[in-house]
Amino acid sequence: VEAAEARKNASTPLAHPCLARVPNQLFVGGQWVDAASGRTFPVLDPRTAKEVFRVAEADKEDVELAVAAARKAFDEGPWPRMSGKQRGKILIKIAELIEANLEEMAQIETLDNGKPLAMSKLADIPLSADHFRYYAGWADKIHGKTIPCDNSFGKFFAYTVHEPIGVVGQIIPWNFPLLMLAWKVAPALAAGNCIVLKPAEQTPLNALRFAALCQEAGLPDGVVNVLPGFGPTAGAAICRHPDVDKLAFTGSTEVGRIVMREASERIVPVSLELGGKSPLIVDKNCDLDKAVELAHFACFFNHGQCCAAGTRLYVHADIYDEFCQKSAERAAKRTVGDPFVEGTEQGPQIDEDQLNKILGYLEIGQREGAKLLCGGKRHGTEGYFVEPTVFADVTEEMKICKEEIFGPVQAILKYHTTEEVIKRANTSEYGLASGIISKDVNFINTVSRALKAGTVWVNTYNVYESGVPFGGYKSSGIGRDKGVYALEAYTQTKAIYQALDDNQCWL
Ligand code: NAD
Repeated sequence: VEAAEARKNASTPLAHPCLARVPNQLFVGGQWVDAASGRTFPVLDPRTAKEVFRVAEADKEDVELAVAAARKAFDEGPWPRMSGKQRGKILIKIAELIEANLEEMAQIETLDNGKPLAMSKLADIPLSADHFRYYAGWADKIHGKTIPCDNSFGKFFAYTVHEPIGVVGQIIPWNFPLLMLAWKVAPALAAGNCIVLKPAEQTPLNALRFAALCQEAGLPDGVVNVLPGFGPTAGAAICRHPDVDKLAFTGSTEVGRIVMREASERIVPVSLELGGKSPLIVDKNCDLDKAVELAHFACFFNHGQCCAAGTRLYVHADIYDEFCQKSAERAAKRTVGDPFVEGTEQGPQIDEDQLNKILGYLEIGQREGAKLLCGGKRHGTEGYFVEPTVFADVTEEMKICKEEIFGPVQAILKYHTTEEVIKRANTSEYGLASGIISKDVNFINTVSRALKAGTVWVNTYNVYESGVPFGGYKSSGIGRDKGVYALEAYTQTKAIYQALDDNQCWL
């Protein structure tokens, strides 16, 4: 009801039925409000590049209000003070509401981001619900330790407590709009923090719908605040605000550096989930057809707009030629089109900037001498579609091998020995994820332990389970999302020593 109410000022007619309950204002202190500036910005349908919705545009002044609301909720409100069990109940309610609205939220995600509806239904929305349920289970299990303390000062009772950090500023990207929100919001809430969240400017819709569900679930006012807006304005203001106690960021390495610099000014903890250029290594001892299919999925899933995409595909020399040919055949068969149509494997890229960036890399790849096996240009003339593209004979010196393209572009490299491929796979500045396809257990054991990456998928790829940590080595980030590991990012550890008798004080 509140969400529909919040749409009352909408200036555009409804472009799609799924938009009916998406609020178009900022969510601050439990209220739906216009931006202080009165400004709004358009949400474009990536299929057509046409405006389908407008939302309020947050800036510094709105960040002030949202942080003040979160501060009040943290310092005076019930959320950090209620029992973990009570918090867990509300997180379960949020999970149930996401599930109850799965069809609607899946359509919103597809309209906003362009990903196939089948994928929104299978992955983005249910995995987001899972994530809230998973952390609901943790809410009453966040506790410290008792630690033996018997030294020359005497005997003490020493123990730790894990407290919420306070007001958390969270900034997320557009590639998995609701899931990236869930990865950030669920553990922060389980630990008792209050949040100011900025969704990506390209995909604000489900974050707003989610805020409405938080209200419905009975989350106290001010605990979650949602501010659609742009990075250099709203995002920067969140990073700089003196009352924000922790920053959590998912996005590009370039912006991650800016966020870290801001955090260093104020000495606040920061967790960063950044870019990747993940190697996928195919051993000669494999089922070739299955390996081609898996490598295709590893690279092209979510239109290549996946931080963990297996974009550097190392194939053993013995199977290289056949593998390249079959990979190109598979990519050429990939169904590109309207993500609302059943059977579509690949919808549009997110926006014009990304489209142009990807097209730029397709040119660079050819100029640098990689062999174009299929694709290589824009798909159609409307919207932001790109042909699934495969390059062979790629080398580590080429830009398409070094830099994150974030598009449907597979780069295949040839290798000869295990030692060689380990070394080459580890040359990247990134270390987010990696994969191995092999039937040889010794190869799997050797390579999986040697790769410098936060995740190694063996004979599978792109599996994301709430309890399994995810994060990067090297320039791919600091800290871990998911699992018990994410709770560390959202808690302070306090050590308490207590004298065991009256003789434990000295002057
Ligand atoms: P981006 O860095 O451009 O933007 C991410 C977010 O940061 C957006 O909300 C944006 O508005 C905000 N932002 C931009 N400039 C800012 C500034 N100066 N101050 C504060 N905030 C600012 O990234 P993107 O294009 O939205 O997403 C793609 C990137 O995200 C890729 O590099 C991808 O690898 C990465 N990513 C990483 C993970 C992971 O878990 N490691 C997951 C998903 C995406």
